[in-house]
Amino acid sequence: MTLHHVTFRAGSTITRKQYKRESGALNATNKFLEAHESTPISVVTIISPHQPVRIFRCHTELEEVTSKDVPFYNTKRWLTLRFKALDKYGQHCMCCNRSAEDGVRIDVDHVYPRSKFPKLEYELANLQILCNLCNVGKSNIVIKDFRDKDSQTALAQKISELHLKV
Ligand SMILES: [Zn+2]
Repeated sequence: MTLHHVTFRAGSTITRKQYKRESGALNATNKFLEAHESTPISVVTIISPHQPVRIFRCHTELEEVTSKDVPFYNTKRWLTLRFKALDKYGQHCMCCNRSAEDGVRIDVDHVYPRSKFPKLEYELANLQILCNLCNVGKSNIVIKDFRDKDSQTALAQKISELHLKV
């Protein structure tokens, strides 16, 4: 029988288990990482038949595997990040300064669009706040960063770290 071999590490404690089903291995990984969210070194390694070794350090990484059917903008990982962006920049359009009180919807926009830069889709440094009118106007063809210099520098740094060609 083929088994999924899972190694759980939290700090210096290492536990190994075997699972018959992939869903069992993934569920256990998720639970473990959620429970050890604040443990400095928590990592789970899954060795499955006919697959490259998978390593997870954060339960949000797992979401991509377990919830493939959930649209990007509904995933917990995106919603968490979206909230961080709103908290950091406030709920005003960075282009026209309108807010929900002016009857617009506030969007969290990817400066470099997801379609062309998937590696930046979960980067806080790649997010800005736009109203839906400005967002539609900008579209995903124009790349325009409406944020302050520091945020722009942080994004440039991220792009160079990831060796992206922009
Ligand atoms: Zn606007």
